[in-house]
Amino acid sequence: MSENKVALITGATRGIGKEIALELAENGFDIAVNCRRKDDSLEELRKEIEKNGVRCEFVEADVANFEQCEAMVKDTIEKFGRIDVLVNNAGITRDGLIMRMKKEDFEAVVDVNLTGTFNVTRNVIPYMIKQKSGRIISLSSVVGVAGNAGQTNYSASKAGIIGFTKSLAKEVASRNILVNAVAPGFIDTDMTKVLSDTVKDGIHAQIPLKRMGTPREVAKVVKFLASEDSSYVTGQVINIDGGMVM
Ligand code: NAP
Repeated sequence: MSENKVALITGATRGIGKEIALELAENGFDIAVNCRRKDDSLEELRKEIEKNGVRCEFVEADVANFEQCEAMVKDTIEKFGRIDVLVNNAGITRDGLIMRMKKEDFEAVVDVNLTGTFNVTRNVIPYMIKQKSGRIISLSSVVGVAGNAGQTNYSASKAGIIGFTKSLAKEVASRNILVNAVAPGFIDTDMTKVLSDTVKDGIHAQIPLKRMGTPREVAKVVKFLASEDSSYVTGQVINIDGGMVM
């Protein structure tokens, strides 16, 4: 059994998930890094996490696959003995206007972002109920709150996460499990690197703080939701967007 609190973070190999892993490691959590496939390139991340004096293990699963998530959660429990914090972070985009969007593009995004959130949470919840404690933090997006042309699939998945979060928060509050979501705006990661400079300029114009956010700025809010400082916060969606959506 781990002496530290244990956080399982999906899609933690890069981008926001990786920064959440590092931020929680710096705050004394042992970390289970979910990845689709373990390989040598992840050893650098292990070193970065472990230099904080905490444990790091890689746990494989495609979050869109329920059976793989079930096996991943069992594997995490075998390795650490408990899961105190689940961060549902894995996500993809397949942008396009509805007239051109293929059914597969809609399904792929919903399968990873929304069904993936269910798949992992469903398997973690029994352990948290037994422990009589837990935190579940899911990555929504401001486009799940406000919408965005060209992202009907992604916005639907992220709005779905908000409904999921609020319903689950009501369902498990009596078991001392707190469930919240964060809704980042435009954050500088591989997901947004694909945008052209013109699109980025247009985005900056809509942000009162006039810049993209950093993955660490998202990780800091997730850390708050994973900490004792948020012990009276559940069922909430916290925007991290430089004031873009108010
Ligand atoms: P990213 O840089 O593209 O990284 C996505 C991560 O998710 C990667 O580690 C990826 O693993 C993993 N992943 C993708 N599909 C997966 C699957 N089926 N199973 C397991 N892992 C999978 O994205 P990001 O910008 O850090 O975004 C992280 C989360 O924040 C997402 O949920 C995203 O929707 C949300 N978000 C991002 C922004 C933004 O502006 N960046 C804004 C709002 C919300 P691989 O390395 O194997 O591909």
